[in-house]
Parts: sequence; structure tokens; C-alpha cells
Amino acid sequence: MNQENTLRAGQRRSLVRALGLFVSLWLWLLCVAPGLASETDFAARAATDLSGYLKVDTLNPPGNESRGVAYLAKILEAHGIPYSTGESAPGRGNLWARLEGGEKPGLVLLHHIDVVPADLAYWDSDPLSGEIRDGYVYGRGALDTKGLGIVQLEAFLALAQSGAPLSRDVWFVATADEEAGGAFGAGWMIEAHEDVFSNVGYLLNEGGMGMEMGGGLAVMVEVTQKVPLWLRLTATGRPGHGSAPQVESSVTRLVAAADRIASSPFPPRVVPAVGAMLRGMAPLQDETFAAAFADPEAAVQDAAFMRALQLAVPQIHSLLRNTCSITRLEGSAKINVVPSEAWAELDCRLLPDQDPESFLVELEAIIQDDHVRIDRIMGFTPAVSPAETELFGAIVEVNAKYFPDARVFPSVLGGFTDSHFFRDKGIVSYGYAPFVVGTADHRGIHGNNERISVENMERGTRVMTDLLRAMTAPN
Ligand SMILES: [Zn+2]
Repeated sequence: MNQENTLRAGQRRSLVRALGLFVSLWLWLLCVAPGLASETDFAARAATDLSGYLKVDTLNPPGNESRGVAYLAKILEAHGIPYSTGESAPGRGNLWARLEGGEKPGLVLLHHIDVVPADLAYWDSDPLSGEIRDGYVYGRGALDTKGLGIVQLEAFLALAQSGAPLSRDVWFVATADEEAGGAFGAGWMIEAHEDVFSNVGYLLNEGGMGMEMGGGLAVMVEVTQKVPLWLRLTATGRPGHGSAPQVESSVTRLVAAADRIASSPFPPRVVPAVGAMLRGMAPLQDETFAAAFADPEAAVQDAAFMRALQLAVPQIHSLLRNTCSITRLEGSAKINVVPSEAWAELDCRLLPDQDPESFLVELEAIIQDDHVRIDRIMGFTPAVSPAETELFGAIVEVNAKYFPDARVFPSVLGGFTDSHFFRDKGIVSYGYAPFVVGTADHRGIHGNNERISVENMERGTRVMTDLLRAMTAPN
């Protein structure tokens, strides 16, 4: 028998009143108390904050990063953190905020606000939806790099909330224009607001993360990148009518030069950072490359290995030599006109210690034609961050806590990020996002259905918070 049926009416009324009181007390605790209590669980809100950030349209071109700045500013304001903003051009916003600490060289958390365009036709949902579905946050920028930006922001706020004295300044910096070279973002910041970086020793940016690899976990901390050197070749020759071919023309000279470049690969060599990376990856490789990666200096002497590597993993092959991709060509504007000029553009990427001038001499020797001129379109200076630092040590230590079986090692990027701006200033800059991503999700970067797991956002916030605590603890 149900016990309630045996109660008399008066007892029932007081029970209902007590129950009502109990329910309202819980409602108060649920809704009001967290606002009064000081502890915010920043890990728990990371996915929702990212979802909101992904909804902000910062597709570059045109960028419109000031919209992203407004979004981040609102979160900082809600937590009483002062910040500064600046536009490098109308709509091209940048933001920086500081937690003031002691004298030790400061640490910058950097991410870029802009995202690359997305082709709607290949996405299952709107790239600006920020939809949270089946444990993932979807949207352009989830991995590159709004996800990292939010994790940095939550960790920054958690550090502020802790009220702990900091041994160094910690900066949260969000910039425009990375996807188009960074001139309106990091490049502008470092010139127009040099003061922000005057006592900065370390910087964390995109470029490395945890990757599932051969049944294990590789946590890659990017310490350097191939250095882009973008070139234009201009061939000249006697113009004429297409009906009367000459022995040589601008076009035949250009094609011959391009052919010599394509068929003369630059000699392979192993720079120290690439050696460390391959040795770190070796135990996670199957028999195809395990032995070669364990001894890359010997392996690169074997042309068959280099060829097999280029076929299987061109991204890794490209780290073992200077390279040039011929990406653009133009001859005549008319089919029956032999032009006096023809041009091609080369996307050359140099090993991080390569002197660009001596590389150009090498390239001239390959082209072997005085009627082909080489002009420089764009180039950076070579720069490597050492891996023997306090920050690298802290990354290793924090990862050991969360991923005891992970291998943490320095890595090299074939592409480039904004880190070169800061490496040029002598700031130790690492590409490091506290995420673990599988190959399939990794393809979402600049690809389709870009997403990051809610687990990565939550755990990533904890990892980043621990890292900040380790780097700011007084000692
Ligand atoms: Zn990026």
C-alpha cells in the first residue's frame, strides 16, 4: 500500500508546503548561487563559448575580425579583466589583455580570429552554425584556431580567478589576418604595439598538438617552420607570330627552366629539429618507416626511401630538403602571338636554417639561363626556437599528468603561422594546442565539416590552466 494514502489532509498540506520550500531552495541554489559564488568552472563552459565564437563571421577575406574582438571583449568584461583593442584597418580588429605578474619574462597566448572560407556545398551544416552535436562543436575555425583561442581564454580567466600571485605577466592576444599572412594582425601588433612584447620571453600559438599515431599518442610542439620564399621567374625572348616558331622564345625558355627545377630536387639533409621530430615519431611508425625515422641522417642518403616517403607522406618528405613548387604560369594572352615575356611563380620553402641568398645562387645554377630573371615576391628570415626551455619542460610535465603514455617531442611545420614574427624578435615561440586529434578530424583544418570534440575543449582548458599555473608559480 502507498504510504501517502494513509496521511490525513492536514499532514498532506504541510508536507506539500515543505516540499515547495525544498524545491524553491534548490532552484535558488541552481540559478542564483553560482552567480554569488566566485568559482566558475571554465572548462565546463569552453564548448559553449566556442560555439558562440564560431557563430561570429570572421571569414577572411575580408576578415571582419573586429566582430570577434567584440565577442572576446564581452567575455573579458564579464570577468572584470581590462583589455585593449586596435584596428590595423577598418574592421581588422586585434585584442590584447594582461594579467600582471612578476619580473620573469612574460608569456603570450596567441591565436588568430580570422578563419578561411568554407565551401557550403561540402558541409553537412552551416560552417557558421557553431552547432554542438554528438559531442562535437562544428564550425569553420573549430580547430584553426578559435578552439585554441577559447581554451587559452578560459585558462587565462581561471588563472585570474585563482587570485594567485604570478611570477610573470600572462598575455591573451587575439589577432587578425593570419590566414592571409598576418600583415593586419601579428605583423601589425609587433610594430604598432611593440610595448606589449617588450618583456615577453615565451609565446604559445597554433602549429602543434596531440595526434593519434600508430595506436599511440604523439604530442608535437612546433619549434620551427619551413621558411617561405616566393619567387617569380620572368623569361624574355624575341616576340613574333605563332605561325613561325623561333629557336628559342620567352615561353620555351620558361618551360625549360621550370623543367630543370622540377627534375633537380635539392639535396636532402636533416636539420636538428626535424631529426628530433622523426626520432620522436619512430616508435609510433609501422615497419615501413620506423627504422628510417629512427636514423634519418642515414635514411635521407637513400633515394628510394626519399621517393617512397614523398609518395606516402609528402608533408614529412618536404621537411628533409628545400623545395619549390611551380604553381603559376603565364605566357601569351593570344594563341597566335609569341610573347616577349613569360612568367612562372614558385612557392619555395627553405629549411629553417637556410640562408636565402645562397639558396638563390643554387637556384640560378639550376636554371642556367641569363634570359630568366628571378624576383623575390615574399620571404621570411629563418628562425628556430630552442626546445631546451622552462616552457618546453612545463609542457612535457603537464602532458605526463594527462596522457602518461604520450610521447612529447619538438616538431617542424611545412607551412607557416604567425610565430615567425615573434621568433624574429627573439621570443621563444611554440606551436602547441592542448588537444588530441585523429587524422580524420585533422583534415577538417581548411577542409570540410571542421570540428573539435567537447572533451578536447574541456580537457584542453584544464591542461592549459595547469600549464599556466606551472609557468607562473613563484620559485
Ligand atoms: Zn590557423
